[in-house]
Amino acid sequence: MTSSAAAVPAVDWADWTWHMRHRVRSADDLARWVRPSADERRAIEALSDRFHFVITPYYASLMDPDDPECPIRRQVVPRGAELDDPAGLADPLDEVAHSPVKNVIRVYPDRIAFCVNNECALYCRYCLRKRMVGEPDWAMKKRELAEALDWIRATPAIRDVLLTGGDPLVFSDDRLDWLLGELRAIPHVEILRLGTRLPVTLPMRVTDDLCRMLERHHPVWVNTHFNHPRELTEEAAAACDRLTRAGIPVGNQSVLLAGINDDVATMKALCEGLVRLRVRPYYCYQAQLLEGTAHFRVPIERGVEIFRALRGRTSGFAIPQYVLDTPHGKVPLSYPYLRGREGDHVVVESYDGKIWKELNPP
Ligand code: SF4
Repeated sequence: MTSSAAAVPAVDWADWTWHMRHRVRSADDLARWVRPSADERRAIEALSDRFHFVITPYYASLMDPDDPECPIRRQVVPRGAELDDPAGLADPLDEVAHSPVKNVIRVYPDRIAFCVNNECALYCRYCLRKRMVGEPDWAMKKRELAEALDWIRATPAIRDVLLTGGDPLVFSDDRLDWLLGELRAIPHVEILRLGTRLPVTLPMRVTDDLCRMLERHHPVWVNTHFNHPRELTEEAAAACDRLTRAGIPVGNQSVLLAGINDDVATMKALCEGLVRLRVRPYYCYQAQLLEGTAHFRVPIERGVEIFRALRGRTSGFAIPQYVLDTPHGKVPLSYPYLRGREGDHVVVESYDGKIWKELNPP
């Protein structure tokens, strides 16, 4: 028997804490929203003590109850393919080795990713930080948070701090307000960024109170994480609208995922839909060599062709940069439009394959 959002009182459905308290955590919970396949049931059982699954009722309500291939469902419901991935690594970006103190990841000289908590509203099956998400050992104790803040205070090169996790918006407003205040009081920290998937997975979290609080700490930027046009719901649009009205630039970082968004029509619909919400498509990541995710990976050549197919066929700012993240930083993956030099001319290729030669200084 599947359930629906309509069965939940409107006052509860609008309350993000109700969703957090009523998250789907078992095959029986899941059966209230969809008809779990035998493969899904087997994977849920096998992964009960390792990156187990959690889904908000809101996100569960977006799933197709009858289709295990549903692009929403595949992002969050375990499946058998997760159990078999010999090439997958626990920490493919070597983030632990790049951490001067616990949960502070420094790959570039002037900015850090600060994993302030280990919890999310739901667990994406391809999550780069599955080693950490939902794992108590990775939670930041008060003392560890203080040590991380001390390290940032003592490192004047850091001008840009990305709060991530886990998801920083799982924190209460008060806790987040305190943390942002501590960071804002550090003179060399110019920019505060929040990496959050809650506008997608729990848009009710983006309350007016939250936005008013964030406004007090400007400049604050938000990067969220939509992967499929079906995630662009009225509720998600309203959450993004509240953020942008609070003066917060909102960008999107998607992941290229096999069978979910690895075709031109889906990616174009996603990017154009984001722009309609005033959310800028920023990055699209190549899925990492991460344990249990082989079934999500797309050949890089195919990814390059998808973004090449968008060039010239939609607004330039609707096209994210396709990147491979590595332990040495992000590497842009783009079609080689610059073909080289011929004497005094540079040779370039246009979006529709025409060759152009332009006089070019030596
Ligand atoms: S929201 Fe982000 S950090 Fe959380 S499980 Fe999904 S990908 Fe991982």
